[in-house]
Amino acid sequence: MSGTLKGKKFTIYTLGCKVNQYESDSMEDILRNEGAICVSFEEPADIVIVNTCAVTNMAERKSRQIIHRAKKISPKAVCVACGCYVQSGKEVLSVDKAVDLIVSNNRKKDIARILEEYFAGEEIIDNYIDINKTNEYESLVLYKPTEHTRAYVKVQDGCNNFCTYCIIPYTRGRIRSKALEEVVSEITGLADNGIKEVVVTGINLPSYKDDAGNGLKELLLAVAGIDGIARVRMGSLEPRVITKDFLEAISKEEKICPHFHLSLQSACNDTLKRMNRKYTIEEYMEKCKLIRDYYDRPAITTDIIVGFPGETEEEFEITFDNLEKLNLYEMHIFKYSKRKGTVAAEMDNQIPENVKNERSDRLLSMVERHKKAYEDMFKGEKVMVLAEEYETIEMGGKVRFILKGHTERYIYVNKEFSEDYCKTHINKMVDIML
Ligand code: SF4
Repeated sequence: MSGTLKGKKFTIYTLGCKVNQYESDSMEDILRNEGAICVSFEEPADIVIVNTCAVTNMAERKSRQIIHRAKKISPKAVCVACGCYVQSGKEVLSVDKAVDLIVSNNRKKDIARILEEYFAGEEIIDNYIDINKTNEYESLVLYKPTEHTRAYVKVQDGCNNFCTYCIIPYTRGRIRSKALEEVVSEITGLADNGIKEVVVTGINLPSYKDDAGNGLKELLLAVAGIDGIARVRMGSLEPRVITKDFLEAISKEEKICPHFHLSLQSACNDTLKRMNRKYTIEEYMEKCKLIRDYYDRPAITTDIIVGFPGETEEEFEITFDNLEKLNLYEMHIFKYSKRKGTVAAEMDNQIPENVKNERSDRLLSMVERHKKAYEDMFKGEKVMVLAEEYETIEMGGKVRFILKGHTERYIYVNKEFSEDYCKTHINKMVDIML
């Protein structure tokens, strides 16, 4: 590198998911290594990078707003748009005067070279590729995550599922995975930097398979074998990955948390079919039972979309009843939102907003009930918490110190300790009575 970036101030604004955050953090590491200085988004900079999201029409709008805000804060900066909206909205971004450079997915690793070419006034080549025509896994490496105790590590990219509501296969391309040894080496580095908990994540994590044939099971076991890593958490899973063989292997490894985010989206088979999800609710229930056979009170969490096109009252009632039976720890409820360029956006029988709101409210009260019942099961038990941070609050004229963290089942815990205990136990495993 030529050193052009040395001393330049840069800032990165991230929208969207944990994979995007991982990629932003890795770009930050790359630019710091070139001698550039990271500043806050509100401070004028020489380089502003907006790592965009395109998951909904709203996410695209927000990405555009942030780009314009960035240009207002730093009018003289080179404004770089990267991320998924670059893939889905290249035509819009290319003519937007606030955008000086676009960098496609799979080209984030070249951010330093692209910026150097820009500052040198050279023609910028290779900053954009057709993501749907590549099998290359973009190997970024994370050294310093945003959180101090937990790191989200991307091990997989792309998706081949083409769910009818989702644009991601078009913005992230086909499935491809990082080699197991590279993941192990990256996480060993993070452990050396003090990271205790790692969340293995991807765009479609269940599809993880490297060129040597290692799948998710082998990967999780290898990560759990790294010295210094106390906990391994899995990102979003699908029912097909939950097999006896998988559970038999991972349940023997104590570092792998009994926490399964098992994507569902709807608990009615007709709706699932229109979504192009490739399992039935019966299969999903079977997989939850299997997890419960292998683990004591596992935390099973999921995502649900209400108001998907054509979701009748009857379909919703089926979903409602099945979710009641499933009795999961936590469900994230999303109201279906039309995404331009997807099959579902063109479907007949789009559901009015008031109906979506009503269905969402009904499920949210179920979420509250199930979550409380699940957490209550652990009352009076001693649990291990990874202490993430502490907060000071003033109560009755006295300053109190509250230690915060999560259990292996991802139950949030906060408890008062002495100032000294809080200060000396951050990033440590502590026993707490619930
Ligand atoms: S599995 Fe479905 S919802 Fe998930 S990224 Fe792939 S297409 Fe989108």
